[in-house]
Amino acid sequence: MEIQKPTVVYRYKNGLYVNLTNSCPTACSFCVKRTWKMDYRGSNLNLEGAEPSPAEVIALAKEQWAALPFEELVFCGYGEPTMRLEAMLTCARLIKNGRADPLPRALKIRLNTNGLANAVWGRNVVPEMKGLIDSVHVSLNTADPAQWLELMRPMEPWAATGFEKVKEFIRESSMLLPEAFATAVEAEGIDLEKFKALAGQLGAEPRLRPRLEAEKAP
Ligand code: SF4
Repeated sequence: MEIQKPTVVYRYKNGLYVNLTNSCPTACSFCVKRTWKMDYRGSNLNLEGAEPSPAEVIALAKEQWAALPFEELVFCGYGEPTMRLEAMLTCARLIKNGRADPLPRALKIRLNTNGLANAVWGRNVVPEMKGLIDSVHVSLNTADPAQWLELMRPMEPWAATGFEKVKEFIRESSMLLPEAFATAVEAEGIDLEKFKALAGQLGAEPRLRPRLEAEKAP
């Protein structure tokens, strides 16, 4: 079988997705990176330690745009994008400041995240995203702290306070950013009514996501 080069940017639906890092503070029970062997629908998302610089990401996005414009740039790969917070914000800044021509300044920039950035960085990072990130989709999954631990399997430093920190991240995002969604994978045993109610209390729109493991491994 041919070994594919690591993929930094890949297309999915109408977006261009950025695989910024393989580092992650959680080992979510629903993550398909192991069962799909770091492949995502034909793209090899194993960076093998070679994390791309913002300049590389922008160069690749420009190339993709020239081939076929996309509707949004999405930070989402096999890893938590905010583990490289500064690199992510630099990419967004280059676009929003008009330094990534032909990418339009108005290009929508979305972050898909597990919401642990404030816990990992030890400060509220959402104000740093203001004017740069247009939309966040936070994988909250449940209103039950014990179930959150089972589903998200955070690493030890973030286990005790993680759930509260994710809620704080969502609350802050809903106040400071144009769009905030709290997402949940469709899994048995999740009280969807309670999940939706919590999302609403935090100011976010709830959204359900299909469980990818239900799909055949590529
Ligand atoms: S946050 Fe994303 S990459 Fe990390 S374990 Fe969960 S699903 Fe996988």
